Amino acid sequence: MKDIARFIAGFRRFQEKYFSADRELFEQLRQGQRPKAAIVACADSRVDRALLMDEEPGDVFVVRNVANLVPPYAPGGGFASVPAALEFAVLSLAVEHVIVLGHAQCGGIHALMNGTGPVGEFIGKWVGIAQRARLSCANSPFKLYGVSARTLPSAHSR
Ligand SMILES: [Zn+2]
Repeated sequence: MKDIARFIAGFRRFQEKYFSADRELFEQLRQGQRPKAAIVACADSRVDRALLMDEEPGDVFVVRNVANLVPPYAPGGGFASVPAALEFAVLSLAVEHVIVLGHAQCGGIHALMNGTGPVGEFIGKWVGIAQRARLSCANSPFKLYGVSARTLPSAHSR
């Protein structure tokens, strides 16, 4: 409850400090969005892409998920949040750039690379979509996540 009160107070500070101070920007954003880029970033709470890239509201169309993954093209393949978001960004918003932002200490990528799925029934299957990338790393002479890529487990545990 203490954290929720802190978030509410933060929203009030946003309204006073930013929203009231930059009416022109927010009036422009009320008319619509015209971001120059789309970004696929990890849902990790430590990765604040707006802070990292010094963004203003409206600069970047954002897709966030565990391990910043883009699933393979599969029309009719069920719920397609990431493809739908990227389709909208490219076709409707006409973004000029699509950025995939990875980060150090990613729990999703760690689970993928080490073959140990996190607790739950969805995450292991989700990160498994990067299995081909993982296997191509197995042929790399570089070390990934402190593990020699040549000694990676042969399959994800899920
Ligand atoms: Zn991550």
